[in-house]
Amino acid sequence: MQTIDTSINAGWVIPVEPDGQILENHSIAVHGGKIVAVLPTKNAAKEYRATETIDLPHHALIPGLINAHTHAAMSLFRGLADDLPLMDWLNLHIWPAEAKWVGEAFVRDGTELAVAEMLKSGTTCFSDMYFFPEVTARACVDAGMRACIGLIMIDFPSAWAQNAEEYLHKGLKLHDELRHSELVTTAFAPHAPYTVSNGPLEKIRMYADELDIPIHIHVHETAHEVEGSLAQYKKRPLARLSDLGLLGPRLLAVHMTQLQPGEIESLAKANVNVIHCPESNLKLASGFCPVHALVQAGVNVALGTDGAASNNNLDMLEEMRIAALLAKGASGEATAVPAHTALRMATLNGARALGLEAHTGSLTAGKAADITAIDLADIASQPVYEPLSQIVYTATREQVTNVWVNGRHLLVNRRLATLDEATLREKAAQWRGKIAG
Ligand SMILES: [Zn+2]
Repeated sequence: MQTIDTSINAGWVIPVEPDGQILENHSIAVHGGKIVAVLPTKNAAKEYRATETIDLPHHALIPGLINAHTHAAMSLFRGLADDLPLMDWLNLHIWPAEAKWVGEAFVRDGTELAVAEMLKSGTTCFSDMYFFPEVTARACVDAGMRACIGLIMIDFPSAWAQNAEEYLHKGLKLHDELRHSELVTTAFAPHAPYTVSNGPLEKIRMYADELDIPIHIHVHETAHEVEGSLAQYKKRPLARLSDLGLLGPRLLAVHMTQLQPGEIESLAKANVNVIHCPESNLKLASGFCPVHALVQAGVNVALGTDGAASNNNLDMLEEMRIAALLAKGASGEATAVPAHTALRMATLNGARALGLEAHTGSLTAGKAADITAIDLADIASQPVYEPLSQIVYTATREQVTNVWVNGRHLLVNRRLATLDEATLREKAAQWRGKIAG
């Protein structure tokens, strides 16, 4: 009999690999931060002696959700400027507010607020893009959160760096500092084709190949972006990125609401990852990402919330539901993005996009114990014919009760283990006073 750290016994386990599988009355054996086995609960007690046993008979265990695109620290701008199109929102509100307020303290407090919200809604890993990425990384390590930290690049100066050279230099330094981290990895994060010129994009491609890390960029977010590129470069943004050698399995192309049929084929051929952010696209009226066509073409589609300033939450359960519904509405096909595909987009596909599929994204022996427990005894989830369907179409984040990251129990019966909610509330109120005042 093998001794293990933890046995989590659940009503249902939904491993995501294989696709659509639902295991009833199963347990996850966890040891040293990793999943040792997923097996029937009646066998678990015979095979393993667990130091801690957690019984969740009315819960479903799913892989921790992966938010493949966000700007965590922007949680402090939540609700600051609503009901505007992207360029007015950025030019008149967000960029001026960032120029005035963004610094180490802002990024630390904003990231902690975001991590707390994400853990409480079942997210165990996020892919970030923001200034002061070293501060974001530290906040994640301190909270025990998994993250892929974007090494930001943008043509204009900020409080973090003055020019392309300094952005790149600081990014490479951070990549080097984090290279042994178990929780935090890095990706290059050039903001968008319209804010980063060819020179820095070429350098990023070269370093990304050398360091073998992803490139995370907003692309084809709006029709306006495509028109601007046609006027300036005589080509669409995706064609420009292609000419710069950026289309490949390392690329995370965020948004992609403006796609022509030929472009979908070239994304599929190059194994580009598309990060779909349906709520941000809806709120900014940016357009509709053709998710059904992308999935049919074989493109890896993952989900992101985008920042809390354009969503306005970091709730991946909600994002998954909207992604499934919107794909049906936009394609006119009710079979588009069924529940199991939506869950895969929010877990394993995100891990794959971030180059983390060997470590997380499914409940598989050998992977990290990144696990989310959802209470299906809630009255609004009755009766439970199909737990996977209940999770995608019915469950809300209030039903998330327990979360583990790398085997560490970070949300325990809805209470955060590494962050203090009262302190987070107080700090958010202080920032609100300063920013609104
Ligand atoms: Zn974004």
